[in-house]
Amino acid sequence: MRAPIPLGALAPYLPCNAENPEPRVESIYYVLSWACHRRCKHCYEDRFRPYVGDALEAVVREAEANAPRIIDHFPDTMLYRDLSDVDEAGEPRRKVGRIILAGGDVLVDPVRERVLYPTLKRLRDRYGRDVRLVVQTTGDLVTETIVGELLHAGADHISVSGLDDFHVGMQGNKKDVLRADLTALFDRSGMQAGTAAAPAPGPTYSFFGATPDVWIGKIWPRGRAWENGLSTATLADNFCNAWSGGLGFLRHGFNGSEVAVEPDGSVYPCCMKTRRAIGNLTEEPLIGILDSLAGHPAFEAISAGRPERMGLTMGWSVDDFLASCATTTPQGRPYRNLCIGCDRFHEAVLAPVIDELAEQRRARRAGHPAA
Ligand code: SF4
Ligand code: SF4
Repeated sequence: MRAPIPLGALAPYLPCNAENPEPRVESIYYVLSWACHRRCKHCYEDRFRPYVGDALEAVVREAEANAPRIIDHFPDTMLYRDLSDVDEAGEPRRKVGRIILAGGDVLVDPVRERVLYPTLKRLRDRYGRDVRLVVQTTGDLVTETIVGELLHAGADHISVSGLDDFHVGMQGNKKDVLRADLTALFDRSGMQAGTAAAPAPGPTYSFFGATPDVWIGKIWPRGRAWENGLSTATLADNFCNAWSGGLGFLRHGFNGSEVAVEPDGSVYPCCMKTRRAIGNLTEEPLIGILDSLAGHPAFEAISAGRPERMGLTMGWSVDDFLASCATTTPQGRPYRNLCIGCDRFHEAVLAPVIDELAEQRRARRAGHPAA
């Protein structure tokens, strides 16, 4: 588990200049499009589902139109400093961060051709080898031709994430058969088993599935999973204090920093998504958004993985926050989780703060620094 680090303590490390560019973030989780070929009951997002006809064209057009502007507002480098790995002089090593292109399923037609491939090429052109490009897919749409096209477009890693009993069509031994077939296919394509985070001399692949003893057992209180009453999380399950949660989102420049981006450019501190996006990347740069939140107690509490403390300077004690975590599932079952309290705090207190910070940034961009 990564410990939160006070931002003020981070300044003295490596000076930055043209040869030594400013490190930015370790990871961006970019949901390219809402389209998916499945409609799983446990999915954390209602909008991940099959679309046909005009509805499909609409989600593809949204992704197609926004991706270039979103990428323009990604950080100028995808490097970061790893405080857990220092050199002989005690300085954190610089490492290459990653951008995870995910859905839905980004291999769905026509998302793959019209959005994914151009996005991979654009990112490769922008960052050269100083980024690791990860394509996340459920696996059953992968073919030899598609793997070749992905590698040609610049993918470094294919992460197959849907091989588990929770995904429609993967129950029983079907997932084992698919995994064996895909392993053979990836090997034939010259790829090696690896991890999304670890750089390798050539393209790599990995598999992960949701198992009851890992995250899926609790399930985020979001999307169809929530509507179907599938989350068994309690107050003890702090989704915020982990990858995918808010932990580290403000630590940009260092290991552990990650944000989540939606197809319309909305950016969030976590994949569960807060009730209000912290900004929009079709309008403004990511680093400017993060800098405007740095030092604010509510956002620092999220970044520290301690959401129950986000209201301490805004009239909400920890007990107030915990009380607001209580709700009832659509099935009528009592339920408590920190993400519910976070939703309530955003609705009652934080949304106007986010709006005000966005307005200040907008005014600054328009040349009114006193705003
Ligand atoms: S869980 Fe994955 S495969 Fe299933 S609907 Fe959601 S995004 Fe699609
Ligand atoms: S508590 Fe809020 S910020 Fe943290 S993971 Fe949940 S929704 Fe995201």
